[in-house]
Amino acid sequence: MSKIILCVDMDAFFASVEQQANPALRDKPIAVTGAGARTIITTSSYEARAYGVKTGMTLHEAKKLCPHIIFVIGDNKKYAYICGRLEEICLRFTPDIEIYSIDEVFLDVTGSYHLYGNPEELAQTIKKTVKDELYINCTVGMGPNILIAKLASDLAKPDGLRWIDEAAVPSVFENLPVKKLWGIGSHTEEKLQDMGIRTCGELGRTPIPLLTEKFGILGGRLKAMGKGMLDRPLELVTPEAKSIGHSTTFPRDLWKQEEIEPQLLRLSEMVGRRARRYGYKGRKVTLTVRYADFKTFTKQVTLTVYTNDTNEIYRTALSILDGIHLKKSIRLLGVSLSSFGRNEQLTLFDEANQKERAALLRAMDTVNDKYGEYKLTWASTAAEEKGHGVISPAWRPSGIRKSDL
Ligand SMILES: [Mg+2]
Repeated sequence: MSKIILCVDMDAFFASVEQQANPALRDKPIAVTGAGARTIITTSSYEARAYGVKTGMTLHEAKKLCPHIIFVIGDNKKYAYICGRLEEICLRFTPDIEIYSIDEVFLDVTGSYHLYGNPEELAQTIKKTVKDELYINCTVGMGPNILIAKLASDLAKPDGLRWIDEAAVPSVFENLPVKKLWGIGSHTEEKLQDMGIRTCGELGRTPIPLLTEKFGILGGRLKAMGKGMLDRPLELVTPEAKSIGHSTTFPRDLWKQEEIEPQLLRLSEMVGRRARRYGYKGRKVTLTVRYADFKTFTKQVTLTVYTNDTNEIYRTALSILDGIHLKKSIRLLGVSLSSFGRNEQLTLFDEANQKERAALLRAMDTVNDKYGEYKLTWASTAAEEKGHGVISPAWRPSGIRKSDL
């Protein structure tokens, strides 16, 4: 029996989050932008899309098409937070999920859909849960692999649900333009067009040698894709984490200590928060530094106690940084926590102080969970709230996104 893979894709994600956060923006044409003077549109609401506004346009172009459009500067923290909530929701339906990007999750529900009657019931339940808890519409595509699940969700947008099962694949693919397939960009499309191949049906019937002549080893995979086949497994989110880490590439390289420290605190908070959410405490703190010339190194310190306290992680990361003689400006900074376990021995700090800190952290997490953004934060991160580059839609919570199939 073939697998049942779901692609849950949030509709107009950044714009929807902003509309949800601010009622004044609801049902209005809005566009989310970066903070810089020459920024472009990252995402626009469906109300703005009706005027022809598209991702990648300049604000001037958008305004010409839709004079009353409202521009909103993007806020990465909100989007990352909602992505975390979406992850939590998806994990209720199956442990086998892959966070593909900030607003797309793949789920393998082959082993769990029967609990909901059938796959469509399960997909409906996910849609409803996302809407009820996050107040955002999503589209769910379903298919025997991620290529088809992704296609189904693209075809069903917005607020849709579509299932392309194995039997339906040949008829859907026969006249489907190759460009519609995930992983086939304009460049590949053009090369295929030069060979007289326009549809997936044609691609699937093309002999492999003709394709390998043009695309090398990818030829075989392209032919398979034309037939709707793709055997890339999901990159699962594993609860048995070996480490919890976050890293940021800065919009511009950083050199000054007073610019670097708040970033380090922000990363430590992200790590601490995630560790607390999943109940992990770690003893090893690792700092990753990438210089402007891409030279990268890591240094770690092992603590005497297990912790998930933001301040503890931050102080440790900072002590590592202080011990490094920075030679060049920094392009990327990463903090991670590992060597998980429980505290057995008594700590060096007095107990009352520990309890107070734990209560403070819990209170912060509760408020942040409730209001969907970092309303409460450590004082020195506040200075860098503004002007941080908008997160790329390719962002994913763990590691580097693979852009190729
Ligand atoms: Mg989306």
